[in-house]
Amino acid sequence: MEQKEQMIFPSNDPWEPYTDIKQFGEARLTNIEITTTHLCNMRCEHCAVGYSLLKKDPDAFSAERIIQSLDDVEHLRTFSITGGEPMMSVKSIQNHVLPLLQYAKSRGAKTQINSNLTMPFERYEWILPYLDVLHISHNYGSADDFAEIGFAVMDKKPSAEKRKALFQTMVENSRRLAAKGMMISAETMINSRTLPHLESIHDQIVQMQAARHEVHPMYPTNFADHLPVASLDDIRSGIHRLLDHKDPDMWVLFGTLPFYPCNDDAADQALIERLFNEQNVTVRNDPDGQSRVNINIFSGDIHVTDFTAEGQLGNIETDSLEGAFRKWRDSKTAQALNCHCPAAECLGPNLLVKQAYYPDTDFTKRKAKVTKP
Ligand code: SF4
Repeated sequence: MEQKEQMIFPSNDPWEPYTDIKQFGEARLTNIEITTTHLCNMRCEHCAVGYSLLKKDPDAFSAERIIQSLDDVEHLRTFSITGGEPMMSVKSIQNHVLPLLQYAKSRGAKTQINSNLTMPFERYEWILPYLDVLHISHNYGSADDFAEIGFAVMDKKPSAEKRKALFQTMVENSRRLAAKGMMISAETMINSRTLPHLESIHDQIVQMQAARHEVHPMYPTNFADHLPVASLDDIRSGIHRLLDHKDPDMWVLFGTLPFYPCNDDAADQALIERLFNEQNVTVRNDPDGQSRVNINIFSGDIHVTDFTAEGQLGNIETDSLEGAFRKWRDSKTAQALNCHCPAAECLGPNLLVKQAYYPDTDFTKRKAKVTKP
């Protein structure tokens, strides 16, 4: 197979919702995420959808019906497939993953799939021509970590040997795909469990020949209430440690950070200043609620990930995706978070961050004190 040409780099991140502000002067629906399965061969302790995993997927809307709804999205810049493990069922790959990726590519969108990378290599080869980013969760500094964390909430775990063998498959798949030019983006969640090991986790990601290390603090949600949330001081110092340690060639992308350019705290301002000025480091505004909605192919439900009651926006049988997005943007919840500081290219806080750390702050009355160069 031909070597893929990488078109995504720190100064060109198509998933950054600020791109819409630059292009259209306002938030737009440019980013669609589709949940294609509730099956997974793992049960990670940090998994955002672990509670919704099933042993058998229900009947789904056809790819053709979903594509009909996607046709309504005027500017489709980015398209992501998530699960469960979207590469686990060959039937699901053939019926949904492949046709949806092919459709998104034909629309000129950049595409991503979230996989644990433990599936047979040839399955990834099937989708490679239509894929720009292969996204994995990576919170492990070693095979032992993987065997423990990756199956933490599974009742009947495979043997430790089998679990460690899957770690080797993941590492091997990552290297082989990277050698073919696939962009591997590995995401680490900051919580009190990963914080002491951020450096070794980063080193592992470098060894897997990933192109990007994504780092997101973990917030209190129903899926991870057993994992203690780290304090702001600990998150801040962990990020400084990672920046001190990072491989200079590795792109490190921070998302849903709990530190804002309008914060008065001198330590927060110093950190943001550093993040803005480090080479190969970016801070992404959260696409959820800014440019993205999610479709579940089984229920047809359209929603904004991470947003509870008001995040349920309708169903593809009765609602258009553009209409659902407008409904969200007009909602009281979205309006309360709707601030914009051009000096810092900041689009305001994520709802979970605000609830966790800034419950009484009205961000719409604040202004950035740190400027993006
Ligand atoms: S956009 Fe909102 S959160 Fe961001 S710096 Fe401005 S006021 Fe603060």
